[in-house]
Amino acid sequence: MLFTITYTGQNTQELGFLLYKNPARPQVSELSHGKAYVFYPEVSDERTTAALLLDIDPLDLARGKAGSSGGGLFDYVNDRPYASSSFMSTAISKVFGTAMTGRADAHQKLSDAPLDLTASVAMLPCRGEREKLNAVFEPLGYEVSFDTALSDEKHPNWGESKYVNLTLKGNVRLRDLLRHVYVLIPVFDRQKHYWVGTDEVEKLLQHGEGWLENHPEKEYITRRYLGRRRGLVNLAFERLAEANVADGEAAPEEPAEPEEIPEKKLNLNAQRLGSVIAAVKSCGAKGVIDLGCGEGNLLNLLMKERQFSRIAGMDVSHVALGRANDKLKLEHAGEHMRERMTLFQGSLTYKDTRIAGYDAACVVEVIEHLDPPRLAAFERVLFEFAKPPTVILTTPNKEYNANYANLHEDDLRHGDHRFEWTRAEFRDWANKTAEKSGYTVRFSEIGDADEKCGAPTQMGVFSLCE
Ligand code: SAH
Repeated sequence: MLFTITYTGQNTQELGFLLYKNPARPQVSELSHGKAYVFYPEVSDERTTAALLLDIDPLDLARGKAGSSGGGLFDYVNDRPYASSSFMSTAISKVFGTAMTGRADAHQKLSDAPLDLTASVAMLPCRGEREKLNAVFEPLGYEVSFDTALSDEKHPNWGESKYVNLTLKGNVRLRDLLRHVYVLIPVFDRQKHYWVGTDEVEKLLQHGEGWLENHPEKEYITRRYLGRRRGLVNLAFERLAEANVADGEAAPEEPAEPEEIPEKKLNLNAQRLGSVIAAVKSCGAKGVIDLGCGEGNLLNLLMKERQFSRIAGMDVSHVALGRANDKLKLEHAGEHMRERMTLFQGSLTYKDTRIAGYDAACVVEVIEHLDPPRLAAFERVLFEFAKPPTVILTTPNKEYNANYANLHEDDLRHGDHRFEWTRAEFRDWANKTAEKSGYTVRFSEIGDADEKCGAPTQMGVFSLCE
């Protein structure tokens, strides 16, 4: 991964003072997943280029850090070593952190002045949204150009590569250019190597100060930077609105609901719940627990089936449980019903005796909401401690996403999904989990199957061996 900044004009070697990096001395910094090298491929009065080369260790990413018990963040085969990604942003803030603040001691005047700068970002992933490069960078005062190549010269029908080499040319302050690139690389490359939490809102607002509040694409930038996590996006919007109101401007409108998977959604939900109910019925369960029950759609159906004498719903979200409570009208239910149905708050990643003792547990579209490092805890909580005779688990089939027109490659179906699995990945996980805990598992597909990609939802029914 390579990021360069070229300064043209007079005495351009002074770029070294602003970056706090001596043009005569290449430097290397250790980062958590690799090394960052800073060097100057060209230095002259009229033209000086500083380069930041990032050398990421792909095996390290796949394995996880030495000494850590968790696995890595990415598959062994990943594009992280050569794509400009959130790793590059992290490297920029680490290596050019002072330059990003604009502090330049003896060279403050130069730092405060707009300079003729050209930045290039190599291998920025952005499939299908090239026009967004213009929409995002031009309002910031850049001339935008980019080139791309075929995915594979031997197979021109595979189309263009999703990576572009981006060049931005403008008369801007160095600190602004660095802050723009810092925020905007992860906007285009959505696969972030860190978990997006509230501190990312702080970073976005800090580095977006002065340019993001009034950017015509601020909604797009904010949503994409925050990995489309709705809670965080709203928080950022509130704060941006405050900044605007303070500037005497009208508050921006509440952003539209982020990604929503299109057609057939309702239909698919209904089919999924139908398949789950059929699976619970066929295992002969009397006591059933719905883990991650959400607003209680499955519970509502279970309630209508007389064979289920004991039903429980658990969710980590109080709000969801409140809605489930309303939907099931438990407030007004008679004693018999209240004995039959229990709702409680809890997390699937903590051992909890309340989830034990049921004949079947349903985990419908929940696992993909768990942080990957917490999956091992989930496996133990459900398959080792609670150990119900049957577990019915569904999760999206990532391969099917190609059928959703508004999803790009690597997009997740929902802003709160932490991952989605292909059929092979799901089977692999399920088989290993079953084997470890003494279960067998069989698989089925839910929804209209596509010949190549399979069906939208995949289901595993785990049965405890006698
Ligand atoms: N099963 C429901 C809801 C799916 S949405 C249905 O099919 O409609 C995912 C649900 O998982 C959300 O309600 C969310 O609050 C819940 N969830 C996420 N993490 C959880 C955890 N660690 N423990 C329990 N529930 C969790």
